Amino acid sequence: MDVNCLSFRLFYRFRVLLLFIVCSLVVGWATSYYLWEFQKTKIVMEHFRKRIVAEQEKKTSAFMEAPAENSDLRVCPALSPYLKGSRNLSFKMSLTLEEVEKSNPKVLKGHYRPSKCRPLQRVAILIPHRNREKHLLYLLDHLHPFLQRQQLDYAIYIIHQAGNTKFNRAKLLNIGYLETLKEEKWDCFIFHDVDLVPENDFNLYLCDNEPKHLVVGRNATGYRLRYSGYFGGVTAMTRDQFAKVNGFSNNYWGWGGEDDDLRERVMLNKMKVVRPSPEIARYTMIFHKRDDGNEVNGERMRLLRQVARVWKTDGLNSCSYKLLSVQHNPLYINITVNISVSSQSP
Ligand code: BGC
Repeated sequence: MDVNCLSFRLFYRFRVLLLFIVCSLVVGWATSYYLWEFQKTKIVMEHFRKRIVAEQEKKTSAFMEAPAENSDLRVCPALSPYLKGSRNLSFKMSLTLEEVEKSNPKVLKGHYRPSKCRPLQRVAILIPHRNREKHLLYLLDHLHPFLQRQQLDYAIYIIHQAGNTKFNRAKLLNIGYLETLKEEKWDCFIFHDVDLVPENDFNLYLCDNEPKHLVVGRNATGYRLRYSGYFGGVTAMTRDQFAKVNGFSNNYWGWGGEDDDLRERVMLNKMKVVRPSPEIARYTMIFHKRDDGNEVNGERMRLLRQVARVWKTDGLNSCSYKLLSVQHNPLYINITVNISVSSQSP
């Protein structure tokens, strides 16, 4: 064998060896990176779990009376074992109500109760609504499995504003509170916008010792709190906390201000707003343009200046409306009301 041929073969072997070493390094690096990321996620999840369990145990121990029925069942754990953590949400254009009904067979007339344990709070989810059927469908599709994974005893109520007068989110929520208490003695109320979908099921739809604001961040605003006093989107208040502040004002017609007004009421009653951590309290907002009939309320700043003077007489105790119907659909209870200024209580 001549020298040229030998050196060529050696060089060839050297190159193969080099290629092998480079490939092994890349594969090794990728595997350790993946393992590290996996480990990191596990550590973060474990950290959340421990922190939430500790917080929840403290709160629930001092909290509500357990429901009388199912009393032979053990109390549900402070943190459900079915939670999955953060998820990227997707919304299927062709989704139908029948599909959502099929995937939630355990929800009966909008109501679900875990069969294996006894939750300490009964939770009513109140969603003010008009002309947002598609958003409602997406929200139901995500919210039902989310709440079941949290092992909650809950029902979803849609408070539907009939007619074309300006939308009044706050008044619809007052009505939701008053009407749903006629059905069941709910402990906790979640006031929920129809276009906000929670991303992380560690964001517990339960009430705390103080009013709780659940939306720290949303995709539309870079997941940052809009301003330090922001109290809109999704909030949780116990039956007593909401009664104490006399509910929302009934006088905010159109978009904006009613949530700031509620925060004022909370402060005036010496309560404070609490929030889950920003990693957990994340929402996807379903994009939409402003609805007709929900134009920005130009009166909101004036109304906000008078909260301290009027909160005792404007709220749950002055909420007049005409109840048009209550329908128990498979996935939600639909309460339709006429709230035009002259409507009277039923
Ligand atoms: C309005 C609130 C609204 C907030 C965030 C404020 O100016 O008064 O009602 O929730 O902006 O959009």
